[in-house]
Amino acid sequence: MTATSLLEDSSPATSRIRVDQKQMINCRADLNQLVPIKYKWAWEAYQKGCANNWMPTEISMQRDIELWNSTDGLSDAERLMIKRNFGFFSTAESLAANNILLGTYRLITNPECRQYLLRQAFEEAVHVHAYQYIVESLGLDEGEIFNMYNEIPCIGAKDEFCLEFINTLTDPNFKSGTEETDRQLLKALIVFAMIMEGMFFYVGFVQILALGRQNKMTGCSEQIQYILRDESLHLNFGTDCVNQIRLENPHLWTSDFVEEIRDLFRTACDLEYRYAEETMPNGLLGLNAPMFKEYLRFICNRRLGQIGIDPLFSSDIAKNTFPWMSEMLDLKKEKNFFETRVTEYQSASTLEW
Ligand code: MN
Ligand code: FE
Repeated sequence: MTATSLLEDSSPATSRIRVDQKQMINCRADLNQLVPIKYKWAWEAYQKGCANNWMPTEISMQRDIELWNSTDGLSDAERLMIKRNFGFFSTAESLAANNILLGTYRLITNPECRQYLLRQAFEEAVHVHAYQYIVESLGLDEGEIFNMYNEIPCIGAKDEFCLEFINTLTDPNFKSGTEETDRQLLKALIVFAMIMEGMFFYVGFVQILALGRQNKMTGCSEQIQYILRDESLHLNFGTDCVNQIRLENPHLWTSDFVEEIRDLFRTACDLEYRYAEETMPNGLLGLNAPMFKEYLRFICNRRLGQIGIDPLFSSDIAKNTFPWMSEMLDLKKEKNFFETRVTEYQSASTLEW
């Protein structure tokens, strides 16, 4: 890249960046100057992400290992549910990382948003690590778990649904800048943040956390609590991105576009409900698939509301069946880590001069 193309359209060519030159997509100004910050929400999201730092190996899996290896501690239904969730999550996190680094990062043309995306990409790596660590700790068949998206239809179907959009963004030939491609980009951002990260993770989160609430697989449950906290930040950042792009490009948001988004959410609800049925064929832990139907409609309405789209479902069939989920976001990190951590921070013991 030549100096001229680097500085394209900034006038005069070597000028300092002004806030009004910054925009979410198709920005031609110098993207290497983080400041002055235009989108405070993006910078704050970056800081919050950093403040939430955690590592999977800091959580003790000892009790989980004992329970998993016991003959009567877990039912077959619970074991199936646990394995299928880790099967879905383990590869979904890789898809998330690819989507950010090979797609979104290139197309979001703003340095403070990119700063957050780099942080988010690392968090996705931590999440993949968490599943690897769980698989290793419990002695699960790693091939069975990591290839499950090719073997279990309800998992493959969710990934398939997202891949169409992820592939758009990660295609090196895809360029934004026309009305059509900008709309494709916006749609893919909505699918990724609000459906993939905002809906497709939630049946699994509820199931594993419900197990933890009954004092079973508490290490796995704690891992999921940290992941849920990260994911809710990913969702909030994604929502802010979508709303900001819409604000700067109102012509993209046509009634046809909104109808398309509503259809995608409708399909997503069906796919996630099928996942609830196939991870929990006969119900367990006082949970059953129909409870998830109400819950999914509830979070679907909520996600749509966050981007200013009317609810898909009436409130009598869309209910917050799991109100305790919001408490799960409330992590007392220091306390938990003090009680449960098994490893010392390396920096304390290995810094020798
Ligand atoms: Mn993740
Ligand atoms: Fe994420």
